[in-house]
Amino acid sequence: MTDQVALQERLENQAARDELTGAFNRRVCHEILEQQIATSRINGEPFAVVFVDIDYFKAINDQYGHRVGDIVLQAFVSKMEEHLRENDLLFRWGGEEFLVLLPDLDEAKQYRVAEKLCKTIERNRITLADQTEITLTVSMGVSTYPAHGSTRDQLIEKADIAMYRAKANGRNRVELYSDSE
Ligand code: GH3
Ligand code: MG
Ligand code: MG
Repeated sequence: MTDQVALQERLENQAARDELTGAFNRRVCHEILEQQIATSRINGEPFAVVFVDIDYFKAINDQYGHRVGDIVLQAFVSKMEEHLRENDLLFRWGGEEFLVLLPDLDEAKQYRVAEKLCKTIERNRITLADQTEITLTVSMGVSTYPAHGSTRDQLIEKADIAMYRAKANGRNRVELYSDSE
């Protein structure tokens, strides 16, 4: 069995999914990133790790309750998956934090894809059962292989650092990691 086939089987397994949202879970995120690094080390293809954190999510729980917060997280994942390209993968990192793996793009394109996603999330409001409309925004940080790291943890850490800059710079935006940080 090739690595690729084994990976596909892992992804189809229910245990690969986060229970609430159906996104791939953190454990699978670790595996896939390792696999992507191994592949890219051989074929030289770059890829990006995007750290996504929903803005002011606590306020949604406070205003509408935790159950609605759960529904909003589910709707958020559906929207993201609807707008990702075929080979992009979405993982729930924990809470209202997600990672996206964008394979095969140069840095400028990775940034543009993330920016498009960010705008799409803002534009597509979430409608609750009682017709209440909720506008979500996200802050995103992008790190790229191999420019920003050669291990999983380095890439995630740098995407996280860039995401915090997006928060500090006003939220609802994308920041690319820079080595001056
Ligand atoms: P920021 O813009 O700085 O990211 O603000 P924030 O409110 O999104 O960030 P904070 O980390 O303060 O709050 C995250 C909230 O997400 C707090 C927690 O209760 C909520 N949360 C985490 N996981 C879940 C979940 O599975 N369901 C629900 N309903 N809420 C969750
Ligand atoms: Mg958070
Ligand atoms: Mg948040």
